[in-house]
Amino acid sequence: MKNLGILGSTGSVGTQSLKVIDKNKNKFNIEFLAANTNTKLLIEQARKFKPKYVCIYDKSKYLELKKHINYSKILCGYDGLMELCELRNIDIILNSIVGYSGLEPTLKIIESGTDIALSNKESIVQAGHLVIDLAKSKNVNIFPVDSEHSAIWQCLVGEEKSKIRKIILTASGGPFRKLSKSQFTNITVEQALSHPNWKMGRKISIDSATMMNKGFEMIEAFWLFNIEIKNIEIVIHPQSIIHSMVEFVDGSIKAQLSYPDMRLPIQYAFSFPERYDLDDLKFDIKNFNKLNFEILDLDKFKCVKLAFDAINKGGSFPVVLNVSNDIAVDLFLNKKIRFTQIPKIINGCMNNHSFIKTPQLSDILSITNWTENYIKEKYKL
Ligand code: MN
Repeated sequence: MKNLGILGSTGSVGTQSLKVIDKNKNKFNIEFLAANTNTKLLIEQARKFKPKYVCIYDKSKYLELKKHINYSKILCGYDGLMELCELRNIDIILNSIVGYSGLEPTLKIIESGTDIALSNKESIVQAGHLVIDLAKSKNVNIFPVDSEHSAIWQCLVGEEKSKIRKIILTASGGPFRKLSKSQFTNITVEQALSHPNWKMGRKISIDSATMMNKGFEMIEAFWLFNIEIKNIEIVIHPQSIIHSMVEFVDGSIKAQLSYPDMRLPIQYAFSFPERYDLDDLKFDIKNFNKLNFEILDLDKFKCVKLAFDAINKGGSFPVVLNVSNDIAVDLFLNKKIRFTQIPKIINGCMNNHSFIKTPQLSDILSITNWTENYIKEKYKL
């Protein structure tokens, strides 16, 4: 029996993780559930899984939770969240918090010596050096929940790191793969939210539409697999059946394929080194009859170019990339800016911030504040 904790249980990855756990009740036990604001769903989940702790980040909803849940200890706010990250009897904590606020929990979990199933890729994007160093010193495993990194991880089982020539990250290309650059200006929020292959949360759906998501995943691969940026190639694979590939020194290429369904990478992160059943996922010639590849147009998908710039320059650049993207995506979702302004805002922030070579957590927090204020003042938002 593995004891699990779920941060972000009411989000897209969180709800799918509960499906995985529900189907494997004899293998997994839930110690805690934590959500940002969605009390309705959190109460429902708590009633079903009866965890020891339930935490709501939004403090104003504490009493509501207390009223409806009587078998769990109710926590709230930042302190409640941190208390969960420090619990000692947990085997794996899934961090599926959205955006840059996922970093502090990630560091706290690792510091406490608990293995982490990481869905919050922003943690690694903005603080890869801190997260990876800390995990090494605490002997903590980071199990990737991102489908691409899970694919790479699965391809690498039984292989020697030194024999990797290249990692090939696949990208669906999102909903605007076929649009010309000039058509990008008029993209609406609704269009950007409708991903062709994956059902995901709102923030990552926009990141997929701009393809910043793939830029983040490139940075994530760099840190997780300790591979040089020049050895990471991004290719468009519109069907999202091949989740990524690894090319070895002898020219052999391994790929991991499956119907696009997040339950698989979530379950693998929980079950590793074992594999558990997922009966409904199987080879299906109707869905698997075309596996195409296309070249990624960096001129059209400027966010990917910005991500390459940020990781190549290093230091505080990925922090600004990540935070300014978070804010710009939020502004776009609230219809305050156009789709094409997202990379412009990020570029502006990257060019104007004061560079720090090895940012510590306190630097990252002050860069976050700087970025928030810069965007507010510069764009009068
Ligand atoms: Mn992914």
